[in-house]
This record gives sequence, C-alpha cells and structure tokens, in this order.
Amino acid sequence: MPRKSPRSRRNKSGATPRVPASPRVRSAPGKSRTAASRATHTLKGARPAEPAAKKKAARKPTLAPRKAAGRAAKEAVLTPDPVRVQALLDLLREHYPDAKCALAFETPLQLLIATILSAQCTDERVNMTTPALFARYPTAQALASAAQADVEELVRSTGFFRSKAKSIREACADIVSKHGGQVPRELEALTALRGVGRKTANVVLGNAFGITSGIVVDTHVTRLSHRLGFTLEQDAVKIEFALQPLIPREDWVLVSHWLILHGRAVCNARKPRCSQCPLAAHCPRVGVTLSQ
Ligand code: SF4
Repeated sequence: MPRKSPRSRRNKSGATPRVPASPRVRSAPGKSRTAASRATHTLKGARPAEPAAKKKAARKPTLAPRKAAGRAAKEAVLTPDPVRVQALLDLLREHYPDAKCALAFETPLQLLIATILSAQCTDERVNMTTPALFARYPTAQALASAAQADVEELVRSTGFFRSKAKSIREACADIVSKHGGQVPRELEALTALRGVGRKTANVVLGNAFGITSGIVVDTHVTRLSHRLGFTLEQDAVKIEFALQPLIPREDWVLVSHWLILHGRAVCNARKPRCSQCPLAAHCPRVGVTLSQ
C-alpha cells in the first residue's frame, strides 16, 4: 500500500498539520544567487533558471511599450492647442517688435553667401567677413571665376573655410549657368544649387524676396520648439513641417527671428531663465530640468 504523503496525514484532532516551510535561499543585497542556491531551488521544484540570452530576449519587448508610453505622455502635453500657440506668438511679437535677419546684406546674392558662411559661425563674425568679400567679388560671375585659394583666404575666419569657399563658388557657377547670374526665387531652384540646403533657401526667400516658402529651423528654433511644446521631432525638416500647420503663414519668416532672439536672450541652452520669461504662463517647459 502506498505511503501517504506528509501533507495528506491528519493529526489526532483531524486537522492537517502544517508542513514546515522550506528555508528560503536569499542572496546577499546586491548579489545574485549562487549556483548552489539555484540548484537547491531546482531540486525543490522551482522553475529551472532560463539561459541569460533567453531572459534578455524576453525582457526586450517590455522596453518598447514603456518608451512608447513615455512618448505618448509627452505627445499629450504637446497636443497642439491653437489658442496656446497664438498666445505665445503674440507675446513673442510684443517682446521682439524689431526682429529681423541678423546677417548684413543688400542683395539676394549677398544674403545667400552670408547664409552659407553662417554655418557653425556667429552672425557677427560673418558680418565682419563679408564686406571685403563682396567688395572684391561683387557679382555671381566674379565669384564663380574666383580662385578657390583667394576666396578661402577671405572667408577663413568663419571656419570650415575650404568647404564654404567651394560652396560659394559652385553655387555662383550654377547661378550664372542656369539662372543668368540672378538668384532664383523658387525653393526648388535654390535647393538645386550646389552647397545650398533647405534652410539657406528659406532664409534667402523669406528675407531677401519676402516669400514665405517655409520656416527656418536652426539650433535655437529646434530647442525652443521642443521646450514650448510645439513638436518632439529632432530632424530640422521634420520640425519645419510640424511647425507649419501651427503657425500662420504670414508669421513663418518672423517666427524664426523671434525664437532665435528669445533663445539667445532668455531661453538659452544650458539654463533657461524661466523665472523671468514672458512666455512662462504658456510654456510646458518640455525637457527643462535646470532653470533659473
Ligand atoms: S518658460 Fe523657460 S523653457 Fe519656456 S520659453 Fe521661457 S525660458 Fe524657455
């Protein structure tokens, strides 16, 4: 006759006796279980330990939903509210009534060249550099046929002078060969010029021709678009397309100047001055962890 298991035995009063709990093997704080303790658990019926790679694979899918949830929470904050956006635009307009392009220029060609030079360089430095360049090479034809070394020397102080000199000469050569020496007024034609990207084209169209083709997105516009809760996009072109439906077209040129000025004066990269910011009442301060 098979022996009864201890669990099925009853004592004199009829109650099932308590089976003493098996001693739990605890690992020291911060330390994983030893092989011996894992073996003990396996012997006592615990599920055998899974291989590390399998565990890692099982954990992976849980991270993506967590990230997605965080992004969804941020997106909720960022849900474009036209009233809030308009309030911010009104405040920016009020605080920066004289906002305009900080690059000095008299013709569309000069602005095109100054914008090419402004990459990774301050506007002040560009404005110190361009008078000598424009005096020596006043037209697209002159720049197109200029010696690379001579242009390099004239723009050296703006940094990346070799590639900038090459871009200027090549863009001018295209302007001469394809547009009769005149800077084109269409976005597609401008971005087709060698060395000219979407940002440069928008600067020229908006500020030299008064054509609202798009929104200029630089480092300040990127940072403030995030903090003000306009978009979470990181890529400049995606930010531009996220901003366009939020901002009235007539403000597309000015909004860049406003955000650049506000980024320099108040909402700086390291420690924004939120306590003194006129936009604070309408700003969700997305991503701001340190402020003054
Ligand atoms: S409240 Fe702070 S984060 Fe928002 S715009 Fe002003 S300075 Fe920038």
